[in-house]
Amino acid sequence: MNPPLITGGQTAEVRELPPPRRDRVKAHKWLTERCLEEHLDREREGFELYISKIAEEKMRNHALQHLNERKEVMGLLLGGFYQHEGREYALVRDVATTDLDATDVSVRFDPDAFEKLFASLEEIGFKYVIVGWYHSHPSYHCFMSSTDVQTQRGMFNLRCHSAIVIDPVNKEIEAFFLDEGKVRSRPFGIYWDEYQNPYYGTSVRMRQTAVPPKAPDVPQ
Ligand SMILES: [Zn+2]
Repeated sequence: MNPPLITGGQTAEVRELPPPRRDRVKAHKWLTERCLEEHLDREREGFELYISKIAEEKMRNHALQHLNERKEVMGLLLGGFYQHEGREYALVRDVATTDLDATDVSVRFDPDAFEKLFASLEEIGFKYVIVGWYHSHPSYHCFMSSTDVQTQRGMFNLRCHSAIVIDPVNKEIEAFFLDEGKVRSRPFGIYWDEYQNPYYGTSVRMRQTAVPPKAPDVPQ
C-alpha cells in the first residue's frame, strides 16, 4: 500500500498549466467581509490557491454534518502545484478524509483509520499531491491555533501549502499559509470547469442513472 504523497521538505514539483479562467472563478459565499475584500483585491492578478467546486462542497458538507454535535472535522487537500506565465499557484481538486478522533476543540485522524484513508487515496483517479489540509472550528471563527500552526510547521511547511479553516456555525471560511514561519491569510477562488473535473465522466453517468422511472402508460 502506497503512503500518501505529502510534499514536505524544501521543494514541490511544479507543473505548467494555465490557471482556471477568470469567468469560472468566484468568491466563496462564506467569506467574511475582510476576506471578501482581499479576494476582490487579488482577483485581477490571479490567486495562489484555487479550490474546485467539488472539493469545496465536500469540505463544507463534512463540517456541516458534525455541526449539531459541535465536533471538529478534518481532511487532506488533494491537487497539485502549477505555474503559468511566471505565476505559481495550487489547485485543490478533491479532498480525502477518514474516521476522526474529535472533540469540539480538537481533531485528528483516528490512528486505527489510516488504512482506510490510504485505501481511499488509492482510489483517487488522478495524479495528485497533498497540497494542504482542512479542518473546522464549530462556532469559534477561523484562525490558526497554536496546535494548528504546529501541524502546519510539521507537515505543510512550504509557502505553497494551505490550511483551510471552516466555521460551519458562523458560516465562515478562511485559508492560511506559512510565510517564513508566520501565519498569513491566503485569498482563494472557487472554480468550476468540467474539463478539470477529475470525475467528469462519472458524474455524467450518475446523472443518467438518476432519471426517474417512466410513469405507467395511461390508456387513451
Ligand atoms: Zn484549529
